[in-house]
Amino acid sequence: MQIKEGEVYANACKLPPFHRTFAGIIQAHMYRSHTCGELNESHIGKHVQLAGWVQKLRDKGFVVWIDLRDRYGITQLVFDQERSPKALLEKAREAGREFVLQVSGEVIERASKNPRIPTGNIEVLVTELTVLNPSLVPPFTIEDQTDGGEELRMKYRYLDIRRNPVKEKLIFRSRVTMEVRKYLSGQGFVEVETPYLIKSTPEGARDFVVPSRMNEGQFYALPQSPQTFKQLLMVGGMDKYFQIVKCFRDEDLRADRQPEFTQIDCEMAFVEQEDILNTFGGLTLHLLEAICGIQMESIPRMTYDEAIRRYGSDKPDIRFGMEFGELNEVAQQGEFRVFNEAELVVGIAVPGGNSYSRKEIDALTDWVKRPQVGARGMVYVRCNEDGSFKSSIDKFYSQEDLAKWADRTGASNGDLILVLSGEAGATRTQLSMLRMELAERLGLRNPEEFAPLWVLDFPLLEFDPETNRYHAMHHPFTAPKPGQLELLDSDPSAVRANAYDLVLNGNEIGGGSIRIHDRDTQEVMFRHLGFSPEEARQQFGFLMDAFQYGAPPHGGIAFGLDRLVAILGGQESIRDFIAFPKNNSGRDIMIDAPAPIDNDQLDELHLKLKK
Ligand code: ASP
Repeated sequence: MQIKEGEVYANACKLPPFHRTFAGIIQAHMYRSHTCGELNESHIGKHVQLAGWVQKLRDKGFVVWIDLRDRYGITQLVFDQERSPKALLEKAREAGREFVLQVSGEVIERASKNPRIPTGNIEVLVTELTVLNPSLVPPFTIEDQTDGGEELRMKYRYLDIRRNPVKEKLIFRSRVTMEVRKYLSGQGFVEVETPYLIKSTPEGARDFVVPSRMNEGQFYALPQSPQTFKQLLMVGGMDKYFQIVKCFRDEDLRADRQPEFTQIDCEMAFVEQEDILNTFGGLTLHLLEAICGIQMESIPRMTYDEAIRRYGSDKPDIRFGMEFGELNEVAQQGEFRVFNEAELVVGIAVPGGNSYSRKEIDALTDWVKRPQVGARGMVYVRCNEDGSFKSSIDKFYSQEDLAKWADRTGASNGDLILVLSGEAGATRTQLSMLRMELAERLGLRNPEEFAPLWVLDFPLLEFDPETNRYHAMHHPFTAPKPGQLELLDSDPSAVRANAYDLVLNGNEIGGGSIRIHDRDTQEVMFRHLGFSPEEARQQFGFLMDAFQYGAPPHGGIAFGLDRLVAILGGQESIRDFIAFPKNNSGRDIMIDAPAPIDNDQLDELHLKLKK
């Protein structure tokens, strides 16, 4: 019954997502000869041993059935008056839900078969039963559709993990990481671990800090990513590095973000952007094929500027159209002041949207006016089946004018054109949100369809009006495009970087860049980011020093594993793909963390709490 590890992996990979739970590949050992998911007619007459949890018990008096569950499935156990000793029948009767049992018995054919489960044709006539451990009544049902709310499920996460939907997502995640390792190792990448206790830097998000007991008044920080370490590995000649690694960011949590999350972190030396796109595009295509069974030749590419122009977003979902049509030229000729004064007038065509009632359109207008979206209003144009138009601003525009709008937004008869206007950046963002919302409502975001996209040539810097200074859009180690360093002084926001994102179905699943690899350029960059030479040296001196010892040209990328796995699994939420996630306030409610520490511990760490 022993199976070589290689075979286990090979088998697992061939199977479609969620449907394979490795039934039948445990080694026979003391507790069980088989799993609860593998017995079928071919085992009839065999003597077997199973171990697992009581899913359900049905007591008909003269016969007792127990559904025994383990990770691999459910097998029906039977005890009856005719064939089982009385004491055994009594013992079976006492087993409650989630009791842990070990049984031996004979595999027999079932009288009434259950075609819905793989073991549905057989049952095990038990001859020996051991209660390995009783159980309290679980606080929610361990069923696919449970009666437990989110909070309760998180508090008893170990019980939640017994449920198929959670268990299968964890197994699915393991398959994805296995494929990542397989692909990257096959390409000659070396998995190297980098430290978790590092130095805090103010750039980027807020750090989680860890007080040092042995160095009074000093703190480590948990890494937001292994960025500088992977670059140092390149200086160290490691050439092709990856790591599946926890990263930590102390941000105010938005929905479905975790303070600790996992990256597939990668770096390569002696590469240009094209090499990175090919290698990690290759990884993405490999995952789509191995995990989702989807074959794709290549990943389309689009520049950042084009993505913003066509979709109002640097992570466009290209599974559906509704591309932006810019209307300034055709909408700013007349008397409509709102449009004439706007920096940008831009619209999208909603397929079949002419069927929307006035009430539905008003509701959409209210939707874009919500503070989360922030539009001031919305103009609509109905494209009638007879080729005529009817708009909310009919008195300002002729049928010929509106025909041009239809042309620019790609609207056909039967569609609805929705138009927003205002400051260009904000208006594009608002229309992008509307586009995504409509696609959701129209069912255009099919989770079984996959549309990866490289977005290239990101701006190097982005202006932050709050702090009144430029920030690195990716991070301070990103190189400007060749020949653009000079532009940093004259027109910082025009500088483009060899920085790229990998987008999947409208989500950023990876991002990276070609890095600066010489000290002088890195110093110039820090200066532009508002670091004094002293600050730059204090925070990143080690990296700039390293650059003086023959740093090779290098670049890399990091994928967000949690999100990637969720999307490949066709799901919106990352939470169930994480074994022990934190809630929206960053708490682990099962272990009750974070929690106070006692005074002795505080003293030892040289910390005092403010009264
Ligand atoms: N370290 C970067 C990040 O966490 C990714 C990269 O540039 O490779 O976003």
